[in-house]
Amino acid sequence: MLSFKPLLCISAFALTLPAFAQSTPPDFARCLDGLQPAARVAGVSEASFRRFTAGLTPDMGVIEKLNFQPEFRTPIWDYLSGLVDDERVQQGQTLLKQHAEVLARVQQRYGVDPATVVAVWGVESNFGQTLGKYPLLQALGTLSCFGRRQSYFQGELYAALRILQAGHIAPERLVGSWAGAFGHTQFMPSTFERLAVDFDGDGKRDLMDNTSDALASTAHFLAKAGWQTGRPWGFEVKLPGGFSTADEGRRSKRPMGEWMARGVRRVDGSPLTSALGPAGLMTPAGPKGPAFLVFRNFDAIYSYNAAESYGLAIAHLSDRLRGADPFTTPWPTDDPGLSRAERRELQGLLILRGHDIGEVDGMLGDKSRAAIRIEQARFGHEVNGRGGQKILRALRAG
Ligand code: CA
Repeated sequence: MLSFKPLLCISAFALTLPAFAQSTPPDFARCLDGLQPAARVAGVSEASFRRFTAGLTPDMGVIEKLNFQPEFRTPIWDYLSGLVDDERVQQGQTLLKQHAEVLARVQQRYGVDPATVVAVWGVESNFGQTLGKYPLLQALGTLSCFGRRQSYFQGELYAALRILQAGHIAPERLVGSWAGAFGHTQFMPSTFERLAVDFDGDGKRDLMDNTSDALASTAHFLAKAGWQTGRPWGFEVKLPGGFSTADEGRRSKRPMGEWMARGVRRVDGSPLTSALGPAGLMTPAGPKGPAFLVFRNFDAIYSYNAAESYGLAIAHLSDRLRGADPFTTPWPTDDPGLSRAERRELQGLLILRGHDIGEVDGMLGDKSRAAIRIEQARFGHEVNGRGGQKILRALRAG
């Protein structure tokens, strides 16, 4: 989790990495052997190490993922339109009802409300439906032997081995993201060890197959990250004309009285109250887009992923789950993002036009983007491979 989420890390450290030397034939088995003594010091018995790493082969695809450099920065409205769409809101509301009893007990123990916990669940793993497909030991073993940050990944590898050694999760079930995040909560192994909890009391902390453990672990994470019970994460605000956003930032919290004096109001026009306490101003798409005042609880959500766009997605989804509307101020673009349903529709239209884009999955990957480029050129749009409302409308029209 944290800075090694697949979708997040791409822009975070894309500029600093050296090219991976593909020409060196990797001696994976020798590297793993070399890690065994350190693993033993880290609490993995030699027998466990041999058992769980027997026959392990590297997957150099994860090094390509580590080194992937995006062609352009994904706009925040694309993240949000895919992560917070009607489909996810409806599914989340159904799950809130379905798991109401467990969520109430989770709230009682950790002080985090059901909508927030379910919103994290929805953004992290699509409510447990997208857990990742990489065998974790293979991915972490590869990252421990090749590429950048090997020592970081070695620590995560040892943690994964300790989790298996303790029997929390069956070895064949330990799959996740290419970077090692796994389960409903998408915890890294070291985060699992610190914060995963056995909420149903069966002796196992199972974030792969046990919803109670997963929901409680999410709430435990937020509680440890400083969650303040009963307080909001923040809310959308309206800035007066000519407002300077120079001191914008989640971290630069100021007394509410200061925002009131500067003419900031709730987005429905109602005034702020000083009882709300200090808040930071966030304008993730600049002064012309939606603006938010955020409190300490936004920081707790932020720490789950170390990305403001994801933090905002979780925060907004939690509001939508409580019945709130989408943001009032539109994003500053003439080409808004697509929901997952619209992404699937776009993919269907690309297939109808003869493009081979693989399966219709609502994820606009390399093949979909290549097809979008061709269609953008045909319609005389800017050619960037991005799937937005503009190209969807053009393809619908024929
Ligand atoms: Ca359990």
